[in-house]
Amino acid sequence: MMSEIYASEIEYTDVIVVGGGIAGIAIAEYLARHSRLSIKVLERAQQLGTGASGKLEGWFHTGALYSGQDDAQTFINCVNGVEDLVNLYSPYFPEHCNVALNQVKPHLFRPAVLPNPQGWFNDSPVYLIHPRTDSPESRLFALKSDSVHMELQRNRVLGRLEVAYGQQHNWFHEGNCLAPTYSQVEAHEGLECSLRNSTETLRNLCQRFDASYDMEPSNYEILKTLDCSMNTSSIMKTLVASALERGVTFETGVTIEKLLIDRYGPLRIKSLLCQTKQGFAKRLKANLFVFAVGDGFTPFLSELQVRARLKSSRSAMVVAHPPLVDTNFVRMSTKNKFHFNHFVQHREIGGENFVYSMLADSGYASDDPKDEVDIEPILESAQRYFGKDKLYSRQLFSYECVKTEFMSEEEQKRRYSYWIESDPNSNYLCVLPGKFSFFPTVAFQAYQRIRTLIQFDECVPKSSFKLETPFAKEATELVANSYPIAIIKSRN
Ligand SMILES: Cc1cc2nc3c(=O)[nH]c(=O)nc-3n(C[C@H](O)[C@H](O)[C@H](O)COP(=O)(O)OP(=O)(O)OC[C@H]3O[C@@H](n4cnc5c(N)ncnc54)[C@H](O)[C@@H]3O)c2cc1C
Repeated sequence: MMSEIYASEIEYTDVIVVGGGIAGIAIAEYLARHSRLSIKVLERAQQLGTGASGKLEGWFHTGALYSGQDDAQTFINCVNGVEDLVNLYSPYFPEHCNVALNQVKPHLFRPAVLPNPQGWFNDSPVYLIHPRTDSPESRLFALKSDSVHMELQRNRVLGRLEVAYGQQHNWFHEGNCLAPTYSQVEAHEGLECSLRNSTETLRNLCQRFDASYDMEPSNYEILKTLDCSMNTSSIMKTLVASALERGVTFETGVTIEKLLIDRYGPLRIKSLLCQTKQGFAKRLKANLFVFAVGDGFTPFLSELQVRARLKSSRSAMVVAHPPLVDTNFVRMSTKNKFHFNHFVQHREIGGENFVYSMLADSGYASDDPKDEVDIEPILESAQRYFGKDKLYSRQLFSYECVKTEFMSEEEQKRRYSYWIESDPNSNYLCVLPGKFSFFPTVAFQAYQRIRTLIQFDECVPKSSFKLETPFAKEATELVANSYPIAIIKSRN
């Protein structure tokens, strides 16, 4: 009997990016903008942006959440991310990237979110609520060490945020945006903070929270931050449209069956053996491979000899539709149980408007994949802030999502940083952003690394991108709407 003969198509592209989440999309777009390389993005799902990048809360981090940590590295990563966004994205995407420098005094420019209904970022700020020593968590536990820790954290929060976004640092330097340095943000003790700001809604929320513990209102520190909510699917759609305009191809529904590796000398990938959406075999060859597969790294880890440990933790989100209040806030705490965040998201899909609340608990995540993720702490906090009647008058949904980080052996502490790993003699790169918000930095840093791995002529991009059909239409079909929208649409 004759054995069956399989034909396999062979294809060459200069660069193959595996993974169509924000990391893969942003890297492909930035590389296409600055080169004439042929680039292909492979995604195993039927659409782009269905992984963590489509399920997140949509909090654009400029550092507030990390401003109280012992070491300022994650805070500085966020602050540098703002610099990269303003320098590398705002001028090129003027219709959408609505964060820019704003002059507040003769020699003081600082970044601001500009009002723009089509913009990636919503101009309602995130308020940071920091407890004082008379707060419920302090009074319930009544440990002196807790109070000391809380005041120390508060001092760091005020100081670092004031240096970065208050009256201290001029972000405009020789025509560019320039963030403060690590030593600048560390050198300020911050009780004089110009960012203190509050609203009646926030004061009422805090009072109701304290009353739920049968306590008198406490003296919260409330700050207005540069953090805001972002429209992640709009960011991905615009970047995909820009990449399509520069000739990038996106192939979805692809299964990678095998990496063909040259093991003599430094490890080099020769080809990827894949199965296409239509079920055909394909051999994909490239000069450089970028792996940006989020929680899909596990099967590749040993073959790619990644030197870091992959850490996955599951966490939960609750969606309330319509929203509970129109204010974004995050309550910080030295106690995980007291963390809580509320974000309002606005989406316009096919002429229909959707507005909903995202409720989460940034202090809680289970590191053990076997653990049940518990949404009860989120519901309990929400009930304390908004009241039981209001909370349960809303349509409520919960879902889980996996957070994936790489951690090096030396660095056991979680840092929510980004990870870009490559060997100078190899032909591949592994990339994992700890946050969607790091996409400008991840794209730029990956680009710098790619320049050291392959030879190509850099080109100066045109001055700005205009979102036009047919690329806008194709991008809209390629990128999934964010997951909460899919749930809301399916239930109504
Ligand atoms: C619950 C939750 C809330 C979060 N909230 C925020 C937030 O508010 N703000 C923020 O900045 N960040 C947030 N994050 C972090 C953020 O979601 C991630 O850091 C970011 O989206 C990761 O992007 P990525 O492209 O690396 O991964 P992903 O978006 O997961 O993309 C990876 C892609 O690779 C594809 N893939 C995997 N394996 C293969 C394969 N073998 N072949 C082809 N394709 C493959 C996947 O299908 C997926 O599309 C949150 C994360 C979670 C889990």
